[in-house]
Amino acid sequence: MKRHRRAKIVATLGPASSDADTIRRLFEAGVDVFRLNFSHGSKDDHRARRDIIRSLEREADYPIAILQDLQGPKIRLGAVKDGKVALATGSTIRLVLDKTASDAGHLPLPHPEIFEAVMPGHNLLVDDGKVRLVVTGLTNDAIEARVAVGGVVSDRKGVNLPDTVLQLSPITEKDREDLAFGLDLGVDWVAFSFVQRPSDLIEAHQLVGGRAGVMAKIEKPSALTAIDDIITLADAVMVARGDLGVEIPAEDVPGAQKDLVRLCRLAAKPVIIATQMLESMIQTPTPTRAEASDVATAIYDGADAVMLSAESASGQFPVHAVETMDRIIRRTEQHRSYRPIIEALKPAIEAMPQHAVAAAAAEVADAIGASAVVAFTQNGTTAYRIARQRSPVPILGLTPHEQTARRLALLWGTYSIRSDEVSDYSQMVDQAVAQALAADYVKPGETLVVVAGVPFGQSGSTNNLRVVTV
Ligand code: PGA
Ligand code: MN
Repeated sequence: MKRHRRAKIVATLGPASSDADTIRRLFEAGVDVFRLNFSHGSKDDHRARRDIIRSLEREADYPIAILQDLQGPKIRLGAVKDGKVALATGSTIRLVLDKTASDAGHLPLPHPEIFEAVMPGHNLLVDDGKVRLVVTGLTNDAIEARVAVGGVVSDRKGVNLPDTVLQLSPITEKDREDLAFGLDLGVDWVAFSFVQRPSDLIEAHQLVGGRAGVMAKIEKPSALTAIDDIITLADAVMVARGDLGVEIPAEDVPGAQKDLVRLCRLAAKPVIIATQMLESMIQTPTPTRAEASDVATAIYDGADAVMLSAESASGQFPVHAVETMDRIIRRTEQHRSYRPIIEALKPAIEAMPQHAVAAAAAEVADAIGASAVVAFTQNGTTAYRIARQRSPVPILGLTPHEQTARRLALLWGTYSIRSDEVSDYSQMVDQAVAQALAADYVKPGETLVVVAGVPFGQSGSTNNLRVVTV
């Protein structure tokens, strides 16, 4: 199996996409990374999805990444009356501490820290800001609010309080428990939500202990303030535009997206653009032109991956959404303006041998029209550094480690294969040629550029480049 594009697709699994048949169709339509969203679903749900993905992976013999997304200190409504309730603009509503609402005039908000900190005049933004409530008064057991912008709200929708300072720990008890569970499931990436400070990532690394890649979700203004250190400490980044676009003005999101993608490319860290990419496809089989353009923009920006949330998790057209995304990516990558834009954004080569050799491999491969760059990598770093060049030549990551192969599914332009450990140069070349032929990345007579670190088996020592004619 071979994908015909460089950017990757992340799709969230949920009630609309949890049976084996749908997950298979999502994979066949182009999903590279499946996201398990721990804001929703039970542990059993997530375990069942993991089982399906892993058996699919075995059958297809194609590494698939699983991304565990931890809820973080996200404020959510409880269960509303009858699953969803329509709030009319101008009406009043009572927010109560209960987990479940007993009548339609009550919105359950089971977060005592809000009741301690909220003041009249503060805004409560529900469901990525679609519905806006303004606090008008406080009683002993309720927050009274006016519906400033109405709409339908459903169970467990997110709530942002941009005006209220809340006492919340960045990694909650639920996150710790979910994380332990996710690591046992063998997830490849863990996303930490509402990262605010570099120290949040240090703690994240301590908890993960190298068992998965640590992804920082950028969705708070404070994360933007400390972004350089956060990117340095993270293994990957998600531009979480849902919450980010509520916490900062919507008009600042496009620029933040451009900055984040550029900084991640500079740091050779994978970056995902997330949320509302094909939002209307939750209900309709075709995207809006603006959505198609949004996906294309992320591709022109050079993002590693684009993500589907409710479109694949709970929408009516999960497979169709992936097919649509795949088509938009491919068409964008083939457009005449793609190469010039990607080249113009190319960062300078870092003055360290491992960076320079990786960059040179990409340059040489392009210059001589090689069919692929084959990178021997222990933990993926060499492949990240090659991908940073965004060269038109495909990258083949060869690794003895299953988890590295899976993690690389997120990386731009990279397909990874499990290989045997190599211990000398001729073995390396033999492996590279055999694997590239088997995966249909090269044909006899064509050329490969092979990159490795010598001594073999040591990570981070990229120092060798070889041109091989097959
Ligand atoms: P969420 O994160 O869907 O878990 O909130 C993504 C975002 O905020 O954009
Ligand atoms: Mn979020």
